[in-house]
Amino acid sequence: MKNEITYLDSASTTKTDPRVLKEMLPYFTEYFGNASSSHSFGKLANEAIEEARTQVAEIINCDNKEIIFTSGATESINMAIKGYVESNPDKGNHIITVKTEHKAVLSTCEYLETKGFEVTYLDVDKNGVILFDQLRDSVKENTSLVVIMHVNNETGIIQPIKEIGEFTRENNIAFFCDATQSVGKIKVDIEDDYVDMLCFSGHKLNGPKGIGVLYKRKNIELTPLIHGGGQEKGLRGGTYNTPLIVGLGKACEIACDELKHNIDVIEQKSKFLIQELKKIKDSFVVGNQYYRASNIIDVIVPELNSDIIISKIPFLALSNGSACTSQIIESSHVLKAMGFTDAECSQSLRISIDKTISLNQIIELVEIIQNEVKIK
Ligand SMILES: *Cc1c(COP(=O)(O)O)cnc(C)c1O
Repeated sequence: MKNEITYLDSASTTKTDPRVLKEMLPYFTEYFGNASSSHSFGKLANEAIEEARTQVAEIINCDNKEIIFTSGATESINMAIKGYVESNPDKGNHIITVKTEHKAVLSTCEYLETKGFEVTYLDVDKNGVILFDQLRDSVKENTSLVVIMHVNNETGIIQPIKEIGEFTRENNIAFFCDATQSVGKIKVDIEDDYVDMLCFSGHKLNGPKGIGVLYKRKNIELTPLIHGGGQEKGLRGGTYNTPLIVGLGKACEIACDELKHNIDVIEQKSKFLIQELKKIKDSFVVGNQYYRASNIIDVIVPELNSDIIISKIPFLALSNGSACTSQIIESSHVLKAMGFTDAECSQSLRISIDKTISLNQIIELVEIIQNEVKIK
């Protein structure tokens, strides 16, 4: 019996890189000043924050003045959507999003519907990609905002954000992209992709939890979600969380430097994993392999009860991607939107890997799944 746990749930969170932690620690104890103070303690903290802002801006190729620090992607999503529609009532009250978005986006949109906004939830095809014609047909006179994610957190499926960005720009509609699963995993460039707002979170790219980013193009007007002492140009009040900001900056710097290498390593391991999974009778990976980030593999294994394998095998940390905030296990809204049945949803496993997974761990994982199927 082995006792080391194989972590296969990087899409839900990642380990803080020791280099990131090392960078953060002095800002708890030595350099603890309030970044808004004008004495030397404050100046030190402020300089560290501005350096981090530059590191963060580099990973998405924007100006450092366009970065707003938040508590995470959920806050950034709330701020972008609510802040934009509130600040731009003249542009209309119609929002377009997609059925497979993260719950933070869907819940925010549902909330706005109760406030009189109109929301269109686009369908996806069987590969999880939006239907461009449907997007085009959904645009109306009063459409002010399009919200579409980059990489899906359950399936790794990539939406064509460059084409979406070109389309929204031509039509004078703002485009907000949730890039929480893509920044640090695949190339993200706000100029190439024509996005107006974009968010991501520290803990999904080996940074600390509780810190995130909202990128906002200079010409975009937003009302703040959190009013306070004027921090972040009045857009996000509250004393700067210097250690977390420094950690996020370092995590972005490392992710930027190592992106090419990590993509190569993960692609190789992902290919091996998929090849091994194919040995399990009738199993298949969700989505087209060409439009997926290779670190997330959602596999459907007929005859498998994924809830049982997740709770039964203590040394595997896996997920079935289903929302189980309550005790009731619901089918994944992402897989349902792609046309999968409840039975198929209950047979799905989300395997999200990072570069540290070994080929042996992959072989072992597939053996365990295979055994679980045979038992039944
Ligand atoms: C994790 C995640 C979020 C939420 O991020 P938090 O930092 O936990 O708020 C939003 N969107 C996607 C796609 C995610 O994967």
